[in-house]
Amino acid sequence: MTDSPKVEKAIAMAKKAHDGQFRKTGEPYIVHPLAVKKILEEWGMDEDTIIAGILHDTVEDTELTLEDIKQEFGDSVAFLVDGVTKLSTARNGMRDIDTYLPATRDNFLRLMIALGDDIRVLIIKLADRLHNLRTLSALPPDKQKKIAKESLEVFAPLADRLNMGRLRVEMADLAFKYVDPRRYEELKALIAKYNKSAEKSLARVEEEVGKALKKEKINYEISGRVKSVYSLHKKLAKHNQNINEIYDLTALRIIVDDITDCYLTLGIIHSLYTPMNGRIKDYIAMPKQNGYQSLHTTVITKDKKVVEFQIRTKEMHEYAERGLAASFYYNEQKLTENYKKGKIEHLPTNLLWITELQTTAARLREGKKVDLKKLKINLFADKIFVYTPKGDIIDLPKGALPLDFAYRLHSEIGDHVVGVKINGKMSNLNTKLEQGDIVEILTSKNQTPKRSWLDRIITPHARTKLLHALRPSTIDDNQPHKKKRKPRKV
Ligand code: MN
Repeated sequence: MTDSPKVEKAIAMAKKAHDGQFRKTGEPYIVHPLAVKKILEEWGMDEDTIIAGILHDTVEDTELTLEDIKQEFGDSVAFLVDGVTKLSTARNGMRDIDTYLPATRDNFLRLMIALGDDIRVLIIKLADRLHNLRTLSALPPDKQKKIAKESLEVFAPLADRLNMGRLRVEMADLAFKYVDPRRYEELKALIAKYNKSAEKSLARVEEEVGKALKKEKINYEISGRVKSVYSLHKKLAKHNQNINEIYDLTALRIIVDDITDCYLTLGIIHSLYTPMNGRIKDYIAMPKQNGYQSLHTTVITKDKKVVEFQIRTKEMHEYAERGLAASFYYNEQKLTENYKKGKIEHLPTNLLWITELQTTAARLREGKKVDLKKLKINLFADKIFVYTPKGDIIDLPKGALPLDFAYRLHSEIGDHVVGVKINGKMSNLNTKLEQGDIVEILTSKNQTPKRSWLDRIITPHARTKLLHALRPSTIDDNQPHKKKRKPRKV
């Protein structure tokens, strides 16, 4: 791809500005913005976004000013660079946003509102984070962990919310490797083993299905889908580590021409194999919240293997992989127009939260009052984000209780809970945590886990840990996995 004169000019400007700066990898700094540029190009983003990607670190880290950028590249690029810069300020204590958002202590909400003006800011930030994750090995271990954890808890779910499937998978797996290296390797080996054992029967299934589809004159592409390490990790946690309850370890993806062919293909598969009860999902008629569409079914093959099928059209596939970035690509012209009007009307209805975010951000900037409690920025429908007193973000399912939080920090903390302070106030262990709460767990060495706590826990993770702690202590001591790690300070 040859660069346009404008892009070339941006590269020259960034090179000059970052001259003499180096990354932790030892390379000249410019390598990073150029990598971000390449990622944005792969996502099919528009020229302004690409230029802003090239310049995204200049205002914060070099002599260049926003005014310089505005003069060279116009308002739109300057606006995007400013957004990315504000976003990192937002993450560093939200100084800037404080001036117009004193009403809430919810850092996450602030972050979202900082983004609200133009979702392309978030896309640049995601590209920036992806490259930083790809080169994370150069950082000291404590920084690695911090960035990796934040990526797992905030950025990968955001990518998911924007239906950027490919990005979500890459980010989550890159980050998980740093958050829990041992578990990562373990699960990676497990997936490889499963794939190997399923190889032969999968090849046969592919052949059988292919034959049947050809007979019905359906155009198709079929390929194996490799399960990501992190999503397996999460599923195992949900199913009490029982691998036999994970039905999508081996999956085949079939891409066909249109929706009718999707349903025909589903019928053909069900005529060949026995579908499993309750495992047929029609995300075409009822798309997921992020706009994802596909038919899913899990079947038992003739040699008794469990295989999941995902059936979708090319457009659906494209959207599942690239999500919001794909809609930008297809709607670039219209989008630019609508941005000028301050609206993104053509977005899939399930992405309308973006519009709501924009409206709110605009109102706040104009100094109008907004009742933040009423905001339904449904970014993570089933999740809340709460904070440790040190400001670490912890994500929990809605309805989570203080003990869920405590066990999430560390089982050593969970086992010794004597009380909890929520937003600085003593609270009891039945109090549901709310979005943005600052939660401080009080512990005592003398406390022991109680059976009655089982009623004050909603996450499987905490339940598993508590049940483990409640087991007679004699079996505990020689378990190799019971190695004691230092509890994290909270
Ligand atoms: Mn950067």
